[in-house]
Amino acid sequence: MDTEFADVIGHDVTTITCLCGNTVSKEGLIQANSQGVPVYAGNDSPVPAGLAAWPDDEDLYTLCPACGRVYHDTIIEATGTAPVSFQVDVTAGPVAEAIRVHWELNS
Ligand SMILES: [Zn+2]
Repeated sequence: MDTEFADVIGHDVTTITCLCGNTVSKEGLIQANSQGVPVYAGNDSPVPAGLAAWPDDEDLYTLCPACGRVYHDTIIEATGTAPVSFQVDVTAGPVAEAIRVHWELNS
């Protein structure tokens, strides 16, 4: 399968328009780890149940919570393009739970 690309402006991951049409200002985009699990961006410990810890190597991904496509921030920042790295199931399992917790903390 050919790699799909989302639209992105000026190497800025917050400007992604996902292939499904979602953006930061629609359903939002969530910072995630290399498994696509939303990470906890706060400073409190422990990390809230359900969320992943902030990666030690700062290797972050951007998850579209609408369709589960995941983009690699490093690639976007380096190239100004947003290829889909992989896709996760946002309807069930740990990613769905992490998304729920993320919005609970950020509402
Ligand atoms: Zn999407």
